Amino acid sequence: MAEAKFGIRDKKGYYIPKKRVGYPPVFVWPPKPMAAAKWIISIPGYFLPWNIFYVVVGLISWFYLSPTLDAFAKPTFTLFVLLFLRNSVLVSVYFGAFHYKLYIQRNQGSEYKFNPRWPSKNTKQFLFGNQNLDNIFLTFASGVTIWTVLEMCILWFAANNFVSVIKIEDHVLYFVTMVLLIHFWRDLHFYLIHRLIHWAPLYRLAHHVHHKNTNPGPWSGLAMHPMEHLLYFSCALLYLFFPFHPAFVVITLVHAGLSPAPGHAGFERIQKENGDSCDIDGYAHYLHHKYFECNYADGILPLDRWFGTFHDGSEQSKTRLKNRLKQKSLKKIQ
Ligand SMILES: [Zn+2]
Ligand SMILES: [Zn+2]
Repeated sequence: MAEAKFGIRDKKGYYIPKKRVGYPPVFVWPPKPMAAAKWIISIPGYFLPWNIFYVVVGLISWFYLSPTLDAFAKPTFTLFVLLFLRNSVLVSVYFGAFHYKLYIQRNQGSEYKFNPRWPSKNTKQFLFGNQNLDNIFLTFASGVTIWTVLEMCILWFAANNFVSVIKIEDHVLYFVTMVLLIHFWRDLHFYLIHRLIHWAPLYRLAHHVHHKNTNPGPWSGLAMHPMEHLLYFSCALLYLFFPFHPAFVVITLVHAGLSPAPGHAGFERIQKENGDSCDIDGYAHYLHHKYFECNYADGILPLDRWFGTFHDGSEQSKTRLKNRLKQKSLKKIQ
């Protein structure tokens, strides 16, 4: 088993990577400027492989796969359909690629798969009795719909000059900086809304839908209640408060729309044709789906470490989490 080089299986057959979940050397004290600079340009690093990919897909989506901004001044149903189809194709291709390789082709079997079981196909817990079908339904019926409507609403403000829109040629540096900082903003926004929806009333109302996926697969990524989709994609509303370019909105939404696929794939690594494998950074968020009350952030900002909810996959983290939950329930009783 190639996975033995990178991890072990516990008694119940769950795969545990040897590599602990960690953060890049950016927000550390004392500062490590050289290590931070090296991480930014490394692979994997800040830009590659994921972030530049989402930025490029977002740029192509705005400049080549969208009508001009004027078309958003008086939105029509046809405009909605066109954008919905564009976003659906992006999601189908990207999520579908992970799903096809890992869950249909299954060339690597369950090597590097955290949970030894495959997605449920006969359970009342999910719509149609099928975890994947339920997730796919929520992804398109609610997720892509709300993504598309939000995109149209924000660009409607821009097309009618209710908010300030920049021209790239006048603000090249601002444009490039904002585009490259989108990942930071997404991380912070996701952490904030994720903490919010773990508040018991909102959890019961909305977030429990996402957490039905204790054994996540790629299609679990956007499987959310509509209220969670609204909060999740609200990251793009930031631009109503800054001078912005429509591409910022589209890139941010593409980032939010596509990035959950690898993080929910359910595997630590994907095996290549030549037998090598590459890490897809899914363990931190898998631990959130397994234990619920840890790793609310899923990215490069060490927010969980700062606020005491970080789980790096070790036995010590497991014990800390147990103690924290014990204290929490004692407080509730008092
Ligand atoms: Zn999740
Ligand atoms: Zn959660």
